[in-house]
Amino acid sequence: MRVHGGHAACYALGMRLVILPAVLLLAACSGTTPDTGDSQPTSTRVTRTLLHTSDEHGWLVPPTELGTTYGGPAVMRAMWTEREAATPDTHLILTGGDSALGGAAISQWFEGRPAIEVMNAMGYQVAAVGNHELDLGQAVFEARADQSDFPWLAVNIDDAEGPYVDGTALFELDGIEVGVLGLANRDMVELVLATATEGLTFPAPSARIDAAAASLREQGADVVVVLTHECAAAAGDLLPTLTEPVDVWFGAHCHAQANTEVAGVPVVASGRWWEGYSRVDLTFEEGALIDASASFQTVSWPSAGTPLAEPDADVQALVDTWAAAVDAELSEVIGYTDTGVVRGWRMANWLTDSWLTSGDADFALFNASLRADVAPGEISLEDIVNVLPFENDLVTLEVSGATLQAHLATTSEPPYVAGFSYTVQDQQAQITPVDRAAFDPSATYVVIVTDFEAYNTGRPYLAWDPTPTPTGTHYRDPLIAWTRALGSSATDPLEAHLDGTPRGPRAR
Ligand SMILES: [Zn+2]
Repeated sequence: MRVHGGHAACYALGMRLVILPAVLLLAACSGTTPDTGDSQPTSTRVTRTLLHTSDEHGWLVPPTELGTTYGGPAVMRAMWTEREAATPDTHLILTGGDSALGGAAISQWFEGRPAIEVMNAMGYQVAAVGNHELDLGQAVFEARADQSDFPWLAVNIDDAEGPYVDGTALFELDGIEVGVLGLANRDMVELVLATATEGLTFPAPSARIDAAAASLREQGADVVVVLTHECAAAAGDLLPTLTEPVDVWFGAHCHAQANTEVAGVPVVASGRWWEGYSRVDLTFEEGALIDASASFQTVSWPSAGTPLAEPDADVQALVDTWAAAVDAELSEVIGYTDTGVVRGWRMANWLTDSWLTSGDADFALFNASLRADVAPGEISLEDIVNVLPFENDLVTLEVSGATLQAHLATTSEPPYVAGFSYTVQDQQAQITPVDRAAFDPSATYVVIVTDFEAYNTGRPYLAWDPTPTPTGTHYRDPLIAWTRALGSSATDPLEAHLDGTPRGPRAR
């Protein structure tokens, strides 16, 4: 980041990791250098503002977790209007991707259409492609991209004919040209179903970023923004490798806020679920960028309190329509919990034990995402889709006891398991089967996993069994069936039927 003149102190303050209302930062800066807004001391100085979110995962209705209610698009849009006075002439609204899928049933159940509809209404202008955009395959992503009033960018996804999507876009904000280039996360291929990336390749990004940045400058960009779906920490690997200057780097994917600097470039990330947004004020003098100052504005509040703004009526109307639609399909109550079921061993055991009820397998392994907690009270189908939103099916693998044992002894990512428990000591796994004869390293065991994991090149399972056997069962269905069969109620809550005990060395 090029910092000139007397703005270094203000800039340094702005770039500190902050979870403060943006207005406080501006107030802190305004004593010495009032460099934003309309009250510019010189007529040649102008400010343009970037508003960034990512990893929204379709949470159109603000989710509540551990006493905090997470934002929601209707409240956020109201804050952009009221607090930010956002207009298309002065503000660019960006998302780092993972926007419509991989989360809330309200969007997932309709293949992401509701989230895109809402994001169009919120005024998003540009997006980076994240791994979850491809969760339901390329055809669904392409339909969502067609539906979007904004481009989906990635310089590092190719198909047989060349770039799969545009890499860059240029936006004119009242005389200032803002160039944006998109970057998909490099590990995308390990994070979606193997079929979803068929025919796509993911070239190393540095040369692509350089070429895109140079092209944007040639087209007249006054500022180059790198909109990534990489975790913010990836800026540490990638930014030092670039030869072309870039001015702002947005991270995403890790669901964590960031406000730091790498190789002189501000690196900013905005968390998840519309819980808040990052704001980057770009100050230009004579058309040249002289300052970039970032802050984070929370849009979350204690659940017992009230939202930070009255929800935007247009956005809320769309949310209400989709909430009614998902209710019509998924409101059936299948159980009851007094305590709620939070992510961790209890929830994982509930899931993997349900897979073994089919009788198809000896053991179950699970090392993928549980996407939400289940709140205390009635458990609906919608709750289950929130926990397990992906379109994954179960498959079985045949594996020798010795191979399973060696994996559990050495893996750095211990899985959730069912059908046995295990301990690891001195790189030896001690496996204790449930209700079975003693574990036999020379025996062949049938292990049930999701097809997502079975075909994933980041997992060992293809080496164990290159031809997994499909069960034809969606990974949610046994959980739903078993929960129904348990017949839990307010007087006999679900948790009385679940095993919360850790079955291996995984921490949680
Ligand atoms: Zn992601």
